[in-house]
Amino acid sequence: MQISKCKNCSFVFYSNELEYCEDCYNLTCGIGCTGIHKGEYMILNKQYTKEEYYKIKEHIENELKKDGNFGQYFPIDLAPYCYNETLAHDFFPLTKEDALKRGFRWQDKTTGTYGKETIPKGKTPNSIEEVDEKILNEVLVCEECNKNFRITKSELSFYKRMHLPLPHKDFECRHRERMSKRNGRELWHRKCMKENCQNEFETSYSPDRPEIVYCEQCYNQEIY
Ligand SMILES: [Zn+2]
Ligand SMILES: [Zn+2]
Repeated sequence: MQISKCKNCSFVFYSNELEYCEDCYNLTCGIGCTGIHKGEYMILNKQYTKEEYYKIKEHIENELKKDGNFGQYFPIDLAPYCYNETLAHDFFPLTKEDALKRGFRWQDKTTGTYGKETIPKGKTPNSIEEVDEKILNEVLVCEECNKNFRITKSELSFYKRMHLPLPHKDFECRHRERMSKRNGRELWHRKCMKENCQNEFETSYSPDRPEIVYCEQCYNQEIY
């Protein structure tokens, strides 16, 4: 927001000429900085004179160009997370083999505790009416992957208010189920399936899916 000439940055505001910076405000000319609130001519959060800055900048750029990394995202081997524990996997799912082949790391088992449940598997109450604040001290177990999880106070009051039963699965399994209901981030060029309509469009419903897919016009005629 309110930035100019910034490349490969995220969450930078009121700044100019930044590269590979994150969470910076009011920074003019910066490379690889994070959390700066005000500054100029900074590299890796260290301040330089204007002359020094441009000299080092040129050196860095020449090194990156030599490696073919100039202007690219950070190299994969610097990623602190495994591919399947990041949002990238939600939107661009890969198999373990494919991810490893591309140089990503892979996590076989999500972090967490197992076997510490105080309410055994299958014994989680089915109705929220049977549950009181004592549940906040209990450790539950996911019915799908056996991972332990707990209920927080605000979560419990939400379930009570909405008359929803306690979840029987941990966060990751619930998240995966929700994501599987969405279409993938891919578009197919298709033709409207309404008889005599020639309209074509891009859709996230692939041609081999069973749903009827109409163009916007035909869809609106159908539902109104
Ligand atoms: Zn689970
Ligand atoms: Zn149509």
